[in-house]
Amino acid sequence: MIPSLSLLFMDIKKIALSLLMVFASSASGVHSGIMTSNTVSDIPSQTKIIRATASGTPAGIEKNNPEIKKDWNKPFPILMYHHVRIYNNPHDPIGVNLSVSPKNFIAQLDYLKKSGYTTVTFDDLDNGVIPRKPIVLTFDDGYDNFYTNVFPELKKRGMTAVSFIIVNRVNQKGYMTANEIKKISENGVEIGCHTWTHPDLKESKDLNKEIIQSKKTLEKMFNLHIVSFSYPSGEYNARVLNEVKKAGFEYAVTTHYGVANTKNNLTLPRIRISPGTNLKRLLEKAGVK
Ligand SMILES: [Zn+2]
Repeated sequence: MIPSLSLLFMDIKKIALSLLMVFASSASGVHSGIMTSNTVSDIPSQTKIIRATASGTPAGIEKNNPEIKKDWNKPFPILMYHHVRIYNNPHDPIGVNLSVSPKNFIAQLDYLKKSGYTTVTFDDLDNGVIPRKPIVLTFDDGYDNFYTNVFPELKKRGMTAVSFIIVNRVNQKGYMTANEIKKISENGVEIGCHTWTHPDLKESKDLNKEIIQSKKTLEKMFNLHIVSFSYPSGEYNARVLNEVKKAGFEYAVTTHYGVANTKNNLTLPRIRISPGTNLKRLLEKAGVK
């Protein structure tokens, strides 16, 4: 599941080489077909690796600086989910509290649809896809019930979401397999990074592995350019934030409560969805119109 260390280093070298090529080509005004077959020859589709912005600039270059303002400052809600499942184990109150029943979840999707919201991903926002009432649905940890209970309901309704994956949980019991992650990604669900081992990043001795290598590994595994990150349990400090900037993430979500806007895109607040949440009331209370 996880590439061997030597393979990983080869990949890092490849990625570094590719980035150099992007910069070199950008400087000479050539924007298309930059990461060519010699860097990703084993992967047929390259569509998501280079994303062109409206101005035709290769993505991931000019926007690594979080100080650069997006054209759009309108607030947008980001919902935070974990499990969508039926679960009432009295010995696991935390697990219960992180679970929304499929029935409630479906009702919430239908409510959003009926109320004129359009689900978007961070990648969409980055590409300037800004509908009248945007909302981001985020799911932390990459649990298997995303694949069984969330993905089919999103698909039925033409909706999307962001799934934050922990590298060392891929293919583990209770989590999505690599094939499932590939499938959701191919169907428009954004794959975000949720570290390598899900530590408290404030205490972590290896931020490079947790933040930078985890991003690169997921990008290689799923042939993606990853733009978003989720801090495990919302924990971060200046050192962590700095590493997230260095990794090149353009959006990072916390567990702070609130409605997001693109002014603070590496410390984005979210609205937590609990088992008994009344979404309509919650959004009204948060001042979302
Ligand atoms: Zn988590």
